[in-house]
Amino acid sequence: MISRQPRIVVIGAGIIGSAIAYNLAIRGADVLLVDEGHKPGSGVTGRAFGWINVINGTPGETSYALWREAIAEYQRLKVALPEALSLARAGSLLWRATSQETEQLADLHLRADEDVELLKSDVVAELEPCLRRVPECAVFSRNDLALDPAQLAGTFVTTAVAAGASARFDEKVAAIETASGRVTGIRFSGGTVEADVVVMASGSGIKGLAGGIGIDTGIATSPALLLRYACSVPVINHILRGSRLEVRQASDNTLIVAKSYVEDGAENGPQMLGERTLAVMRDELDLPDDVMLTSADIGNRPIFGDGLPRLGFLPQVGGLYVAAGHPGVILAPLVGRLTAEEILDGRRTELLPSPK
Ligand SMILES: Cc1cc2nc3c(=O)[nH]c(=O)nc-3n(C[C@H](O)[C@H](O)[C@H](O)COP(=O)(O)OP(=O)(O)OC[C@H]3O[C@@H](n4cnc5c(N)ncnc54)[C@H](O)[C@@H]3O)c2cc1C
Repeated sequence: MISRQPRIVVIGAGIIGSAIAYNLAIRGADVLLVDEGHKPGSGVTGRAFGWINVINGTPGETSYALWREAIAEYQRLKVALPEALSLARAGSLLWRATSQETEQLADLHLRADEDVELLKSDVVAELEPCLRRVPECAVFSRNDLALDPAQLAGTFVTTAVAAGASARFDEKVAAIETASGRVTGIRFSGGTVEADVVVMASGSGIKGLAGGIGIDTGIATSPALLLRYACSVPVINHILRGSRLEVRQASDNTLIVAKSYVEDGAENGPQMLGERTLAVMRDELDLPDDVMLTSADIGNRPIFGDGLPRLGFLPQVGGLYVAAGHPGVILAPLVGRLTAEEILDGRRTELLPSPK
């Protein structure tokens, strides 16, 4: 039994660990955030598209209720920490290969009581004058957000530190230390830090850290590709997801595209896919001549077999907490609050099963 405040170490300053550190720190907890990268969002968070939505969820599935709650948490964040979302853009337009499929998509989400609307082509053309092939109809999901996930992680960390948390970067955690079935701290190459609670929010790095103390969390990774294109002028106003393209434009006009990725030789490597995607974009959008590919990065998304995130104390080692899962950017603010509530108040969420 600990009579003083628990010393909490959070491993990983991706979007998940940063949100957890923020939620713990604003409640006055003793928290240290550690990352092997040199700034927040150095892992897959820095390669995420940044689409906050439920329109890509499927009403009726277990994960759907969680997504809805996660979106509601973003609304709370807007009030609690307005600077976190100051650059976020609202709204997305989606359409499928046929109008019938697009209508079905709208219908599915309208029946789930979401704030979506089926727009006719003339309205779509007005919203997005750059479209060269305006679909007959598109679903407008007006409350979706597009944001920079690494920047959001940075705001969480800055606010956590201002509230009294410590943060250490460029420090890789080599191992989690345990004694008599409990965590006692973490080990770096240069020494150890004592802790009563260790939160593994290290994304794909959880496998190695947990494996080091004989625990298989079941975490796996799934690659996806993030393409960035320099562009000199504003071109699109919302996230666009058509049958051939998923694209948004950042506040500095960079065009950002997310794609699924399967390793399949140089012809289908990141660079070549990036160039081919630019040809598709030119076909779909009126782009200035100067648009060019600036980066093509593969990100390894931490994911579990059932698609659901994991959040909670592991039964094998006292004080060891795991927080990971897909889609991490959507879930992060909610995961941050739920984790703080479980660690500080002993209140467990019913939204998710406990980790095994
Ligand atoms: C192309 C692409 C598009 C995506 N689009 C979206 C989207 O639109 N919306 C969405 O919600 N999700 C999206 N995702 C998924 C999203 O990126 C992830 O779910 C999320 O970023 C996971 O965050 P994380 O904090 O768990 O992991 P990470 O960001 O990987 O953070 C883990 C951190 O732990 C650190 N770390 C690891 N091991 C150690 C160690 N031993 N010691 C110290 N530090 C360590 C790493 O440096 C890293 O910073 C996308 C992913 C990709 C690749």
